Amino acid sequence: MTNQLLIIEDNEQNLYLMRFLLEKNGFTVAWAQDGRTGVEMAGKLRPQAILLDIQLPEMDGYAVAAELQKDPALRAIPIIAVTSYAMVGDRERVLAAGATGYIEKPINPETFVAEIRSFLPAGGSGQGGTP
Ligand code: MN
Repeated sequence: MTNQLLIIEDNEQNLYLMRFLLEKNGFTVAWAQDGRTGVEMAGKLRPQAILLDIQLPEMDGYAVAAELQKDPALRAIPIIAVTSYAMVGDRERVLAAGATGYIEKPINPETFVAEIRSFLPAGGSGQGGTP
């Protein structure tokens, strides 16, 4: 079981905060700052989960989620949308595109890692797990 997560996020501050919180809690973090690069990296890395911003250059988060769903090898990877879009319609749209769950920005550093873990398969604690 890998502890690697892939973050697809173009905002440097959000990316920095998410990486900091996740690495502090035992995850390995890879990242991409546009949607197309994110899809390529997902295919290469097969991360445990993907944290996906919606407003992205090249391909937006909806297109990224749809692209990942098309690939049988990548379809099983949980996608957690992390976005400032707070409207109900946007939430439904991102879930319909293939996201497993949804976290709203601004990120709450107190709860962020627990929220991420709640979307991971059992054993994906980021703490190493049992062999
Ligand atoms: Mn963005």
